[in-house]
Amino acid sequence: MGRKEDNAKKAVELMKDQTLIRNLGTAAHIDHGKTTFSDNLIAGAGMMSAENAGSQRVLDYDEQEAARGITINAASAAMVVPYRNPKHNNAVEHYLVNLIDTPGHVDFGGDVTRAMRALDGVYILCCAVEGIMPQTETVIRQALKERVKPMLFINKVDRAIVEQQLTPQMMIEKFSKIITAFNQKIMDILPAPLNKQWQVSLQDGTVALGSAYNNWAVSIPYLSRPEVTKRALELAPELADKLNGKPFNLNTVFDLCAQEGGQDKLAKIIPIADVVLEMAINHIQNPVDSQKIRIPTIWHGDLNTKIGKDMLACDPKGDVALMINKIIMDKQAGEIAIGRLFSGTVRKGDTLYISGVQAAQRVQGVYLMVGADRIAVEECKAGNIVALTGLKDAIAGSSVSSIQDMEPFEKMTHYSEPVITKAIEAKNMSDLPKLIEVLRVIGKADPSLNIEINQETGEHLMSGMGELHLEITEYRIKNEQGVDIVASPPIVVYQECVKGANPTEFEGKSPNKHNKFYFIVSPLEASVQEAIHKGDIDTEAKIKDPKALAKQLMDLGMKDIEAKGVVGFKNNNVLIDCTKGIQYLHETMELVKQSFEEAMMKGPLAAEKVSGLKVVLMDAKLHEDTIHRGPAQIIPAVRDGIYGAMCEAGRILLEPMQKLFVSVPPDYMGGVTNQITQRRGTILEMGQDGADSTVTAEVPVADMFGFSSDIRGSTQGRAIWSIENAGFKQLMPDLQKKVVTEIRTRKGMNPEPYDSKYYSGM
Ligand code: GDP
Repeated sequence: MGRKEDNAKKAVELMKDQTLIRNLGTAAHIDHGKTTFSDNLIAGAGMMSAENAGSQRVLDYDEQEAARGITINAASAAMVVPYRNPKHNNAVEHYLVNLIDTPGHVDFGGDVTRAMRALDGVYILCCAVEGIMPQTETVIRQALKERVKPMLFINKVDRAIVEQQLTPQMMIEKFSKIITAFNQKIMDILPAPLNKQWQVSLQDGTVALGSAYNNWAVSIPYLSRPEVTKRALELAPELADKLNGKPFNLNTVFDLCAQEGGQDKLAKIIPIADVVLEMAINHIQNPVDSQKIRIPTIWHGDLNTKIGKDMLACDPKGDVALMINKIIMDKQAGEIAIGRLFSGTVRKGDTLYISGVQAAQRVQGVYLMVGADRIAVEECKAGNIVALTGLKDAIAGSSVSSIQDMEPFEKMTHYSEPVITKAIEAKNMSDLPKLIEVLRVIGKADPSLNIEINQETGEHLMSGMGELHLEITEYRIKNEQGVDIVASPPIVVYQECVKGANPTEFEGKSPNKHNKFYFIVSPLEASVQEAIHKGDIDTEAKIKDPKALAKQLMDLGMKDIEAKGVVGFKNNNVLIDCTKGIQYLHETMELVKQSFEEAMMKGPLAAEKVSGLKVVLMDAKLHEDTIHRGPAQIIPAVRDGIYGAMCEAGRILLEPMQKLFVSVPPDYMGGVTNQITQRRGTILEMGQDGADSTVTAEVPVADMFGFSSDIRGSTQGRAIWSIENAGFKQLMPDLQKKVVTEIRTRKGMNPEPYDSKYYSGM
């Protein structure tokens, strides 16, 4: 039997003992070495040769990822890890580690959050040279929010030594700063007592340093193993004088690293996989202990119910509760749903319910994922990360259970609004049905992608988190699914809202003139919008408890009368009924809501989505006969009422913004600030980081196209930069008319938007 097959067999055994399972992830700012690090762990488990770690990537199994050299898919790998336990005389114990390598690019933030949901512990990598970057902070926040315990790995220490020539003293100072900043985040984000319990330190081994690329790492507890000093003296006998009977220590590690060939020796004395796996085995809880902390945060159902207790206990005999964190497409097996099993046991043939889907679905296959390999297993018990086929209606983020109507897991609070759209078409008309099917599946696998299928024109719109996000999706459609497509250049996604409130109620009339609706619209309170963004108000759910909702909205500053009248949400827009005692309105309300929802999807200015609007129905007159107030009458009346009110309130266009962080040698700062101001950017902060100058700015997405090559040009490639989506802001009024005309023309509409007269039927 080969090593790989042997491992698979052992993995299947180990997955039955929950105390021997560790669900771990890696997360970092892009380029800090996450993939190289993950490869090392896989090599440590004998699933890849050690020499290949860093070049042959098991986790990056997408060709696309390998080609780009960045990690896009949060793929998972189950691996068997041998651990020599010093407490048991160095006897070898085996653990099952399920490893997920999360994406490091801002476009894929949604994937990171979903991956975190499956984990109990995470290695957060931080480059020794660059230090904590904005994306590092984001992943720390994401992990802590999910109650995933963080460990810190300071990577690329070789560069600090060899390139930067830092002395051991300088290094310790620099690393202490990184550790302090890391702990401060934990203090700020977590509640007591966890914020103290989860502090990391070099002493206890929750922090390790090393070089993923050169395959070595060091932690204080690992250094105290007698065999380390023994190996060091065997491989580098010249150290004997220096050590003078003392154990191998940090200073000798730094010395050896600086020597020619020293890092090869370090890779044998303190192999990275051993060091960091020891860290996880000792400091990350097994799923049973971890779920006691995690379940109350990630599931807000009643913990005293059976399913609540089953999950708190991670009980394999309990009801099944599973959260899907990823959907992948497999040429043979079709769609595979991968997720964390929080309670129960899943077997082939089981019938499971997916949140939001009526009919039950049958599990066709149960698998363990080992990189790109899928190993069929009889069953899988709570505490593991499992792959299932047959759950056709599951999407990334679905809750799945053996009981119907299980309270779903907390919604992922990673809030992502698409900022860029491309129109795509099948190159050959005969591929159209296939393209529609592929788009449907891709939309399920990646909820941060917004797909609008137009069966009639064959032109579909695909909106995402950034240029790269869409490029990758296109690549997948072409190369993995084999559908040839043509894509338009990327277009910025705008949103519509209003400046203030319309001064007087605006009347919308039905075509038969028998039904009238009177509306006031205004910008929704910022505090309420924020609560929606954070997921504190679930706008997709039916309003279950109107009193509790009203109280929440009043606490956020909404007027009593409005808060009590909320009848529906669409995205971050709200519909409020402030009428009193209108006959027949109750029976008509479903149509009013439907029309409101449609209107929010296409605003009156440029048919872009409406965002942050409060729509208040003040009064209505309805025909007594139901025949005269059907959908064909009510829908246009409500829509015209809302649109007209928006015209009178002063329509505005909102554009997506990106926060830009640049770090550059001071001499090149001029080039950077030029780039920012030329692109309508605003500089928010300037600072110093070691020898480099830093700048934080906010720039409209519309002006970010081509930034990466321009910044390279103007700084001779010396700038390190990253971006983060930063929400929507009002477009400058003097640009609005031009942009509106462009959008309308592109959409084949009359270039001039209609005014309120049009909507009042005059
Ligand atoms: P990711 O984007 O976080 O997955 O980072 P990668 O693993 O792709 O690494 C980014 C780059 O840094 C690659 O060129 C690696 O070879 C390099 N790298 C990773 N770890 C180290 C290290 O410890 N030392 C040095 N010098 N380079 C490293």
